[in-house]
Amino acid sequence: MDHSVPRRDFGPLTVFFGEKNGKYPDGNQLTVRGRDTLAVFDSPLVANRIGAEFDEADLCILGHVHEDHITGLHRIPGAAVHAHEADIDAVRSWEGLARHYGYGEQALRQMKAKVEADFHFHPRPDAHAYRDGARWDLGGVTVQAIHMPGHTSGHCVLLVEPMGVAFIGDIDLSGFGPYYGDGTSNLAQFRQTLKRVADVPASVWVTSHHRGAVTERSNFLSALSAFASKIDQRSQTLLERLAGEPKSLDELVRLRLLYPTDYQELWVDFVERRTIAQHLDELLGEGRIERLEDGRFLKRG
Ligand SMILES: [Zn+2]
Repeated sequence: MDHSVPRRDFGPLTVFFGEKNGKYPDGNQLTVRGRDTLAVFDSPLVANRIGAEFDEADLCILGHVHEDHITGLHRIPGAAVHAHEADIDAVRSWEGLARHYGYGEQALRQMKAKVEADFHFHPRPDAHAYRDGARWDLGGVTVQAIHMPGHTSGHCVLLVEPMGVAFIGDIDLSGFGPYYGDGTSNLAQFRQTLKRVADVPASVWVTSHHRGAVTERSNFLSALSAFASKIDQRSQTLLERLAGEPKSLDELVRLRLLYPTDYQELWVDFVERRTIAQHLDELLGEGRIERLEDGRFLKRG
């Protein structure tokens, strides 16, 4: 067991912080010890360095499914694994995870090798599906799932009572901003989620990456607002690029909206395209851009 994993305790709940405060590819691990049940939320890479406090889990509740949130499942083959019904196929099999990403065939082939080598991918065909509002009674402590889609279609906030700790997962309050670039991600849903998450009755908010634990409501709200504003900044960037001179989706993808142009990862082209296409749909719906006959887009007015 590695005693150097930084931690913070909130009564029966512990946050174990991954490398660089849980920066991807690592993440932050939550564990909740009830009278009857030890539950863990997700299982980022740090789960592999915690020891008994993770390995003795009876229950793993996944707030959502992505390669960096399921890396410790191979350590707890006897624990019940639960995921929202919209994400469940992604933890049950590689084929389900591949559909969840939605990338092209070549990128998926490389992704499979990567999730197996770097993220200990270990599908759980026995995983249970839960729905919005699902509750787990751990003995003196309860967990409730609140469906907050957008990042993935099954992304949930997990609220722990009576401590009022909300695990908000990949609503991660990072400087990167909201990620909605995968096959089952959705920009419009993420916008709704960013409004609703402010109303979750919590006093501590724990993110999977970057921020870790936020314990002041005013800090949470300002971080949330900065995070959400990234979406409008992206729309603004696209509007500037489409002012005066029309551009095709391919051209916009080459210019990059999310990642620096010299950043190479096997998912980048897909994610840029999916993200930009959703912004263009939104801008078309608002009448702020138009689609020309040749398929290119132009800012209106
Ligand atoms: Zn994620």
